[in-house]
Amino acid sequence: EAALRLSGIEKTYNRGLASEIRVLRGVDLTLMPGEIVALVAPSGAGKSTLLHIAGLLDSADAGSVEICGEPMQGRSDRRRTAVRRDRLGFVYQFHHLLPEFTALENVVLPQLANGVARREADARAQGLLDSVGLAGRAAHRPAELSGGEQQRVAFCRAMANDPQVLLADEPTGNLDPETSDRVFAALLGLVRDTGLAALIATHNLELAARMDRQLRLDAGQLRAI
Ligand code: ADP
Ligand code: ADP
Repeated sequence: EAALRLSGIEKTYNRGLASEIRVLRGVDLTLMPGEIVALVAPSGAGKSTLLHIAGLLDSADAGSVEICGEPMQGRSDRRRTAVRRDRLGFVYQFHHLLPEFTALENVVLPQLANGVARREADARAQGLLDSVGLAGRAAHRPAELSGGEQQRVAFCRAMANDPQVLLADEPTGNLDPETSDRVFAALLGLVRDTGLAALIATHNLELAARMDRQLRLDAGQLRAI
């Protein structure tokens, strides 16, 4: 069963206005468990729009989104939020960690919000941080961590509730090339270990080449590279 399936996704902004822009024109995508797919798109092509629709943060005008076999159209906001929390993980270009909490706490909090007991959440968070080489950084606040370390904590947070689908928008885009490379390797390791499906947007063709499949968003549609 597909972890994520998009069929015929259409999205137009400012419909009926002079500024109308048809961003997605029938996007189809099937992501199987364990598959890591690169999404390559020039700026303005609609990459964020696509990730937001796949991540249930925005709705399409037409087409369907299925997460782990469950069709999302017509679902209540409450159900969409639950699916987002239980099945999806997000990583952004800027880590968006909570500055007043430690690395460990940043990975623990989403688990507490999902009803996981504190002790279990702590253990899982520590395990995730260990797996990306941050064993000794658990008690640091984000400001005490390097950019690459912050982004690795953000990956751990995205994985905290054991999602089936990881969506990442330029996850290493704000790092220098060498750090980006190292951080990306940590991300791939983490994803490969868990067997979840990942859709990772990047401008970096070398990073894209290290994923299982490369797709380009072009004229509102996805094409294999
Ligand atoms: P990307 O992430 O590939 O840079 P986006 O998905 O952010 O592209 O945007 C695609 C196009 O849609 C851009 O031309 C952008 O200006 C436009 N756009 C994005 N969001 C909105 C919005 N809320 N209202 C109007 N236009 C938008
Ligand atoms: P990088 O080489 O990745 O850019 P930095 O030079 O920013 O890393 O930091 C080097 C190490 O020092 C990092 O492991 C980071 O955790 C630690 N560090 C940086 N700033 C602080 C701070 N204000 N307090 C505690 N540790 C810090």
